[in-house]
Parts: sequence; C-alpha cells; structure tokens
Amino acid sequence: MKPTEKDVIIIGAGAAGLMAGIEAGRRGRAVLILDHNDQVGRKVRVSGGGRCNFTNLGVRPDHYISKNPHFCKSALARFSPADFISRIERHGIRYHEKESGQLFCNGSSDQVIRMLTAECGEAGAELRLKSRITTIEKRGRFMVRTDSAAYSSASLLVATGGLSYPALGASDLGFRIARQFGLSITPLKPALVPLSFRRAEAEMLSPLSGVSIPAELSCGKVRFQGPVLFTHHGLSGPAALQISSYWNQGEELAINLLPGHDAYALFIDHHGSRMELQNFLCRFFPRRFSFLWCSRFAPSKPLALYSHRELKAIAEKLQRWIIRPADTEGYTRAEVTRGGIDTAELSSKTMESKKVQGLFFAGEVMDVTGQLGGYNLHWAWASGYTAGQYV
Ligand SMILES: Cc1cc2nc3c(=O)[nH]c(=O)nc-3n(C[C@H](O)[C@H](O)[C@H](O)COP(=O)(O)OP(=O)(O)OC[C@H]3O[C@@H](n4cnc5c(N)ncnc54)[C@H](O)[C@@H]3O)c2cc1C
Repeated sequence: MKPTEKDVIIIGAGAAGLMAGIEAGRRGRAVLILDHNDQVGRKVRVSGGGRCNFTNLGVRPDHYISKNPHFCKSALARFSPADFISRIERHGIRYHEKESGQLFCNGSSDQVIRMLTAECGEAGAELRLKSRITTIEKRGRFMVRTDSAAYSSASLLVATGGLSYPALGASDLGFRIARQFGLSITPLKPALVPLSFRRAEAEMLSPLSGVSIPAELSCGKVRFQGPVLFTHHGLSGPAALQISSYWNQGEELAINLLPGHDAYALFIDHHGSRMELQNFLCRFFPRRFSFLWCSRFAPSKPLALYSHRELKAIAEKLQRWIIRPADTEGYTRAEVTRGGIDTAELSSKTMESKKVQGLFFAGEVMDVTGQLGGYNLHWAWASGYTAGQYV
C-alpha cells in the first residue's frame, strides 16, 4: 500500500494534538491527526466536571512538577492564559472565574471541543478517528501504519496524553514510541488522585464518608489548603488531590485541621468553659466529624476538666494529625499522570527530540504535570501551540 504523504502526522486528537494541528495547519503544513477514539477530546469533554477548567489566570512555571522545572517556561511564556481566552471569546464562548483564577465555561466543555474542531477545519488539518496505530518507523520520513491505511510525513508529533482514565482512550502508545526511538521516560504514577487508607484507618474513618472539611495537607515541605473529602476508602477533595501528586508510597501526610488557628490558644481562651470538647469543635467541623474524631483521639469532656498538658496534646493532634495512606486509587481515578517523556531529551523551544529529528511531543505525555486548577489543559494548549510552530 502506497502511503498517503503529509507534512505532519499528529497522534492524539486531544487538547495538545488539536492545538498543534491548528497551528501547523495555519502555517500551511499538510496535517493529519490520528486518534483511536471515535470522538476527539474525550478528556476535555469530562474536564472540570463537564465545564472544562480550561486555564488559570495565574499560570506560572511553579504550578508544574517536572524533573526539570525550567522546561515549561518557554512554552508558557509563548502561549499565555490571555491567548487562550481571546480564542474562547472569538468563538463567543462565555466563561467565568470560579476561584483562584480558575476559568470554566458557563455552558459545557463541548463548546471548547467544537471550537478546536472548527479551527482544525479552517486550518485544513485533517482528522482521522478510529485509527488503530499498528507500526511507526522512520526511514528518512516517518511511516505510520494503521489497521486500515498507511501514511508518511516529515514530522511526527506524539500527543497521546497520560495513562489516566483508560476508559476515555488513554494508552501507553506515546511512551512506547519514545522507547522505540531511544528516549527516556521518568517514573510514571497516578497524580491528582484520591488517596486510600490502610485497612485499620479505613474502618475507623469510614463513618465519615461524604464529610468535607477545610484543612491543610502537607507532605514534606509541600502543603495545600482547601477542602478535604472523606470517602469510603480514604481522602479526596481538592487539597487531597493536590497533595497526591507529591506523595510517594510509604510517606506520611500531616493534616492540619485548624489552619490559620492556634488550637492551644483557642482551648486556653475557653478553658473555663463547661462545654464539651466535641461540641466546641463543632464550631469548626461538621458534627459527624467532631464527634468521631473526639471518640477516636480525644475522649470528650467539658473543656474546664482538661489539664493544660491534655489540651496541648489535643491541639497538637488537631494541627498535626499524621496519616500514612496505603496507596492512591490508581489510573482509573487519576486526573493526570505524573512523569513522562524526560524533558532532558527535548528542546524547550520547539518540543522536538534532541536525538531524533522531526519527532515532537506535546501535552501530558511529557514529564510536565500541572497542579489542579486548569494548569494541565493550559500545558496542553501551550506545548501544542509551540510544537505547532515547528512541526
Ligand atoms: C476526569 C478528568 C478531569 C479533568 N479536568 C481537568 C480540568 O478541569 N482542567 C485541566 O487543566 N485539566 C483537567 N484534566 C486533565 C486534562 O484533561 C489533561 O491533562 C489534558 O487533556 C491532556 O491533554 P493531552 O492532549 O496531552 O492528552 P489528551 O487530552 O488525553 O489526548 C490524548 C489523545 O490521544 C489519544 N490516544 C491515546 N492513545 C492512543 C493510541 N494508542 N492511538 C491513537 N490515539 C491515542 C486519545 O484518544 C486522546 O484523544 C482532567 C482529566 C480528567 C481525567
């Protein structure tokens, strides 16, 4: 079968692949985007609970985890939140800021997908869905075979995303392509993912399932403040998802249940009170949490009946409650994959491999992992935009 010739083949019609296809098409390159799914941008569709937290007004390099924290700087400087916002506005998509700079569509994330596919069409980038890639070779040009066709191109861009949510089409193809061409991959692990307790803790805390409390979680020197949700198995909610990206198996987490307060000073202020500790703590926590926490860690009695030493110990436990999670809930529940194509192998200006001419990467497949809050989609847009200028 004689291969169809293109200038650029992009594997993956997700956030990064579509953005790169638009940009390369606008430069007049003949672009083909291949995807094994039957729809484009399935992760974009589910993102932000269906409203797509498409960027964050406060995007900065320190919102990203990578072996080389400098790698993302050039692409982020080249394609800013304002650049994405102006596209959204051009397409009449209405949006709002939820909190901490997070921008969401007022309507559905489908609007963003329609915008990207429309721009691909205008730029002349061709989309082929339901394409199962069978082999990739480089003989001067890249040769890509699918179960039904063969293509060749001068440039190949791998935008296959991470391993999370396999039900939405995630696969390890991008990592296999990297290995095939001799590129290294940093260790991969689920990130922005709920954490699961060990059995004893799960049994003790399972009555709290569904309770959300404001807290600060820390792992080593990294800390996040925000809602923490108790689940049947462990911890979820924004602060737990954030810390999961920094947590490694075996490490402990410290939970400050009263961030911004000095718990001991609070107790001393109320030491004369006849109020029971579990009722006093209801000022700060839902009743279910306060009662269970006291029953496990600080048998409740009127505040006046505790000694200073007891109050000090309870205050310390409230502000540094140590939990050692057993694991994460894995790729089926992770928003992203931490780790990826080692950025030492890539040019930060072009996203091209330093070793293999014409081989480019963009998006989550690279070792650049954003925090929660629109940073991962922004990395997909920025790296896709940058690669699109050079493929
Ligand atoms: C539930 C959920 C909610 C999220 N919410 C947000 C949010 O609100 N804000 C945010 O910033 N980030 C969010 N993310 C993360 C964000 O969606 C991803 O980081 C982003 O989509 C990555 O873009 P990408 O183009 O690199 O990969 P993807 O968007 O995952 O695209 C990869 C594409 O490659 C295709 N592909 C994979 N393997 C193959 C193969 N073997 N052959 C052919 N094609 C293949 C896939 O079908 C897919 O279309 C969320 C993720 C999840 C799972």
